[in-house]
Amino acid sequence: MRLTRYFLPVLKENPAEAQIVSHRLMLRAGMIKQQAAGIYSWLPLGYKVLKRLEQIVHEEQIRAGHIPLLMPTLQPADLWRESGRYDDYGQEMLRIKDRHDRDMLYGPTNEEMITDIFRSHVESYKSLPLTLYHIQWKFRDEVRPRFGVMRGREFLMKDGYNFDLTREDALHAYNRHMVSYLRTYERMGLTAIPMRAASGPIGGDNTHEFLVLAKTGESEVFYDAKVPELKLGERAVDYDNRAEVAAICEEFTTLYARTDETHDEAAFAAQVPEERRMVGRGIEVGQIFYFGTKYSEAMGATVVTPDGSRVPVEMGSHGIGVSRLLGALIEANHDEKGIIWPEGVTPFHVGLVNLKQGDAATDAACAELYAALVAKGLDPLYDDREERAGAKFATMDLIGLPWRITVGPRGLASGMVELTCRRSGESEEMSPAAAVERVA
Ligand code: ATP
Ligand code: MG
Ligand code: MG
Ligand code: MG
Repeated sequence: MRLTRYFLPVLKENPAEAQIVSHRLMLRAGMIKQQAAGIYSWLPLGYKVLKRLEQIVHEEQIRAGHIPLLMPTLQPADLWRESGRYDDYGQEMLRIKDRHDRDMLYGPTNEEMITDIFRSHVESYKSLPLTLYHIQWKFRDEVRPRFGVMRGREFLMKDGYNFDLTREDALHAYNRHMVSYLRTYERMGLTAIPMRAASGPIGGDNTHEFLVLAKTGESEVFYDAKVPELKLGERAVDYDNRAEVAAICEEFTTLYARTDETHDEAAFAAQVPEERRMVGRGIEVGQIFYFGTKYSEAMGATVVTPDGSRVPVEMGSHGIGVSRLLGALIEANHDEKGIIWPEGVTPFHVGLVNLKQGDAATDAACAELYAALVAKGLDPLYDDREERAGAKFATMDLIGLPWRITVGPRGLASGMVELTCRRSGESEEMSPAAAVERVA
């Protein structure tokens, strides 16, 4: 992409309304625009990162054997009357009437609707196990929308729902979600710690939240210093192997890690040596729940068992805050100049800076480099504006692409360009071909 043909409305000044760094940087880098409290347009750069995150979530869910579908944002209130949550959910639910005076709502989550789909089409245990998920916009009329996309009112969530015959099967689905989530966050370059949590309005007693450590997080967290060091890494996981999946979950949940809601000071002191007792703050980027037959019983979602009887199906639900993750990623990856994208989620792989736009040799070298980067399968952003070098560097630093290749007449005279790593800040002179080679 050529910057002169792109839409990247960067802001020079710090927006006064932004209280935390990720919100400030997303506004300054032209990624989002607020349209109403907690409601945002996703400008091209923000949209690109959002799509990358979605893609990673899809890949890891499909790898775990889960099946994508798409449910609507608007739901009929009657489904929620069946589960009893229409009245319970309270003011966070945005209620709407259509022209026929029917009660509708903008979905804050989808347990009822997915249970309705299930009961309409599934009869027998032979169709199980089944896990369906979607990535769709949600609306929650938060009391205090703030911190940009971190606590929006409209936000993008991946929510998945498992249907199983037995409690053991459903707990395997729970474990599968935990492992697939660990892999998802790691691919994004994030350390998200599963912590025992309280279940809130979803219900059920088996639940973990995933928290990214950050000073600006809204939850207080208590954990063993060894927990953030745990990594899934490149190990291959057989998601059908119950023992293997359960062992990974045990590895990641045995050491003490809890949020303020479930923290137990005595257990913390007993289980964790004093020098490893960490207290900090975290951003909730996901949560998994096992709730058994709470919805299937209320809504009559049953299956025929091998012996011919009928039982309510065992369920759980599992969410990832896809749009919130952008904020969490920036909170964890930035410096005073701007964002520093991890390679796995960057909107463009590399920035190409032309120091003398309009100079025939420099323009030609940039065009050649651009073509070579594209041929390698990379997505470069070429700053071809007629701007000072300082302004071009400031834009690149702000939007945080992992690599920058700088091309100017002086270097070219000796056949060299400059390759700069955004994270380390280190620059190196090399041939254009070597620079293309080095960029991941
Ligand atoms: P919170 O405690 O932050 O209000 P929640 O526990 O109400 O979140 P869940 O019902 O667990 O949220 O939804 C799954 C995920 O959706 C959360 O882990 C979070 O990452 C994301 N999420 C929830 N509310 C918002 C919001 N208002 N804006 C952006 N993301 C959100
Ligand atoms: Mg909430
Ligand atoms: Mg929560
Ligand atoms: Mg939650």
